[in-house]
Amino acid sequence: MNRAFRKRLQRLADTPPAISRATELQETVDTLYAQQYLRTLTLLQPLTPDNAGSVARLLATTLQQASAEAQQAAARLYPQAPQQMQCRAGCSWCCYEQLQVHILDAVAVAANLTAPLHYRLETRSGHEVKRIFRPCPFLTDEKTCSVYEHRPLPCRAHHSVDVDRCRQAVETQDPERQVPMHLRYYSFPGLPQEATLKVFQELGIDHRPVVLGLAVAALTKDFAGVTADWLAGGPVFEECTVLNC
Ligand code: SF4
Repeated sequence: MNRAFRKRLQRLADTPPAISRATELQETVDTLYAQQYLRTLTLLQPLTPDNAGSVARLLATTLQQASAEAQQAAARLYPQAPQQMQCRAGCSWCCYEQLQVHILDAVAVAANLTAPLHYRLETRSGHEVKRIFRPCPFLTDEKTCSVYEHRPLPCRAHHSVDVDRCRQAVETQDPERQVPMHLRYYSFPGLPQEATLKVFQELGIDHRPVVLGLAVAALTKDFAGVTADWLAGGPVFEECTVLNC
């Protein structure tokens, strides 16, 4: 990467996010955010066009680990929350929507596939995408997730407290039907991703939401080339983004 990129990395490292110690909750939230922010900068330090694939893979793996740690922190702060969850193995109502994810979620999935994914979607309009109910390309016939270990953040964070509402949302194909969640618990796994997205934004790396199937399909065609273009600030995921209309 060029000198300007390195200077921007250094500038961000010199001004890390502040940590408030006003309350235990605030300190936990700020710490999770700041740790991932600095971790992202460190992982980007050795980036070159030749190693972009492994840097992207490491960014994705590290982010998923950080999300798991954030989830554990939420479980300590809200010990009653896991008992309220109705998500169970074999339940797949939340797998019938067109998943909008971050590019790193798609990287995590694509890096662990052994065959190219072929996937098409009739529209990328955010409004329309929400209304297409069909199974995720990674949902198996047995209603299990074929990429469970590497599943995207929205799948990890989905913690329904009312499975009937999940089922109704799919059966009525109504994207406006709200699924009640324990919101604080729900938001924790996303904190590290917020930090990474902030770094990407500062560095001019594409951080727009993408359709999971489309982004994974693009990555499985040429993982090294696509990740190199993306981390260099290119618009290689342009055809995978969810359009704001
Ligand atoms: S990635 Fe897995 S958990 Fe997520 S929607 Fe697809 S099948 Fe379901």
